[in-house]
Amino acid sequence: MMSELPFYRSCSAVRDMLTDAHCHLHEFSDDEIGKFGDILIAAVSDDVESSRRTMSLAEDNRNVFPFVGIHPWNVQEVDVEGLRKIERMAADAIGLGEIGIDRRYHREAWEKQVAFFEAQLEVAREYGKPVNLHCLDSWRSCLDIVLKYDVPSAVFHWYNGPIELIEEIGSYGYYVSINAAIKIQEKHKEVAKAVRLRRLLLESDGPYDYRGLRLTPKVIPEAMGIVAGIKGIRGQDLEMIVHENFAHAFLSLK
Ligand SMILES: [Zn+2]
Repeated sequence: MMSELPFYRSCSAVRDMLTDAHCHLHEFSDDEIGKFGDILIAAVSDDVESSRRTMSLAEDNRNVFPFVGIHPWNVQEVDVEGLRKIERMAADAIGLGEIGIDRRYHREAWEKQVAFFEAQLEVAREYGKPVNLHCLDSWRSCLDIVLKYDVPSAVFHWYNGPIELIEEIGSYGYYVSINAAIKIQEKHKEVAKAVRLRRLLLESDGPYDYRGLRLTPKVIPEAMGIVAGIKGIRGQDLEMIVHENFAHAFLSLK
């Protein structure tokens, strides 16, 4: 572990900042990243190279909370040595992500997806780090696997799974992240309705184009307004709750 706590371990100085719980910041140019300085960003990675860039972005940008990991779509290109590199970087990262399993894409690698997911959960347990999860079309399996590992916190990114599973996810103290695509994705509005305020996060998953909607951390304020409307509370109240959730999910602040 680092001897000195980096800035991103403390949320206290940034109470008023918006938060993005899942963003592939490493894919943005340095110029673009400079424009996101007023948003706290949980920056996830996809493989060894992007994990390195994410860690270096966190050194240079005080609003960046770095996650390292091998994405389920990339497990075929990574060997055990790659996993070891992730494990070494994880010691100084905020958490592990984007990790998980996917039954819709790259199913041919299902067994390796599960093996790499479990290996990275083991790292998260070993270091006591939160995980930022990808569970497309495999929500129940993903939850079952996570429950086998004693990770301190888990965020189900862009949750679009069964509505009845949301309460169970929350009952373990885990979080459901609402993507800014909620603006046009009707099913996602049902998710936002179902999740308890104390278990809710907001994210961009940027940079990503979803049905013509350009997703970057800059879409967070609009998503905040939409979710506040669904929840029937003031935007500024939701902002405060989501900020606290972000701190609890990723920094284990009590
Ligand atoms: Zn992602």
